[in-house]
Amino acid sequence: MKKSKETVCVHNTRDYQGANTPIFPSTSNKYIGYDDNTYPRYFNTVNQQVIVEKMCQLEGAAAGIVFSSGMAAISTTLLSLLNPGDHVLISEGIYGGTHKLIVEEFERFGILFDFVVGSNSSAFQAKLKANTKVVYTETPSNPLLTIIDLKEVAEFAKTNQLISVIDNTFATPINQRPIEFGFDVVLHSGTKYLGGHSDLCFGVMVSSHDLQQKIYKHSLSFGGSLNALDCYLIERSLKTLAVRVAKHNENTMEVAEFLSSNPSIEKVYYPGLKNHDLHEIAKTQMDGFGGMLAFTLTDDINANEFLDKLKLITPSLSLGGVESIICQPSITSHVKMPESERLKQGITDGLLRLSVGIENADDLIEDLKQALS
Ligand SMILES: *Cc1c(COP(=O)(O)O)cnc(C)c1O
Repeated sequence: MKKSKETVCVHNTRDYQGANTPIFPSTSNKYIGYDDNTYPRYFNTVNQQVIVEKMCQLEGAAAGIVFSSGMAAISTTLLSLLNPGDHVLISEGIYGGTHKLIVEEFERFGILFDFVVGSNSSAFQAKLKANTKVVYTETPSNPLLTIIDLKEVAEFAKTNQLISVIDNTFATPINQRPIEFGFDVVLHSGTKYLGGHSDLCFGVMVSSHDLQQKIYKHSLSFGGSLNALDCYLIERSLKTLAVRVAKHNENTMEVAEFLSSNPSIEKVYYPGLKNHDLHEIAKTQMDGFGGMLAFTLTDDINANEFLDKLKLITPSLSLGGVESIICQPSITSHVKMPESERLKQGITDGLLRLSVGIENADDLIEDLKQALS
């Protein structure tokens, strides 16, 4: 029976004759045979596997791996797919930690890379090299919520026999399923929406069976596995993923519309707004526009004073939790980026990134309104 995503979220993938999967914390398990033993670092305990099964159903993938952080998923995947001398195309505006991995670690491994500015395949085509093996992207991007055309980039990758990899953290599979558009590998920082309560750190990789096997082989040595107790909490979080994301979508649209109409706001970045540069593309590939938005204040409003005046929305790092939080990328996520590069990308001191929670939207708008006055 074909199940909708809300139903997939709620129902367990395996039947243990109860509403919840039992926790199997054992690290010492019966010897079965060299390749078949259960061990947490082999990513094959029941609690790890039920999460992967559910994520595969949600993303439309055949196989996957759950990791101990988003960065463990990302680094293991990229370092498994790339060899010395290989080249990777990366879209600009990716997560800061991934940017750091690429610019600070890849050279040591002899992996070459180019950053690509632009939302469609021609931008990627322009930087294609004979040794390009992987194209890596993220949409909507961080912090400016720019959009990459999934279908075009996946087709570009197929035509050139590249493996296409995407970080789908911001959208979640509830809003966007890149595999449906032809992407090969989907990654998540589960720490954000999948966990959703700001109390879990994990990552997920899903793909075809063949690519999963290729990555799995190296995962065993890189060792970024996750424990059974956290897996249990993740399975619990996933049950409410669809309802949480629906509310994030709804609230964020309302907040974006309020900010757009406020004279103290210079610009609002949200792919759900009709005046977003790439709204038309976003509409073709997203079921909802997500819980992240960014905005710039006009020059007469001081960002720090504005943040101090907020009563509900808390200045805080990370994102994707049920509570609304705000951050100033120029002094947090992008503080290490050279100022000229940061400004070139549009990350000014007055830019604020808001992770809209699932509170009452009117309360959030009231809070923003009083802090702007
Ligand atoms: C947070 C984040 C990551 C890194 O995830 P961790 O769980 O912190 O390792 C990767 N990509 C995106 C888009 C993120 O927001």
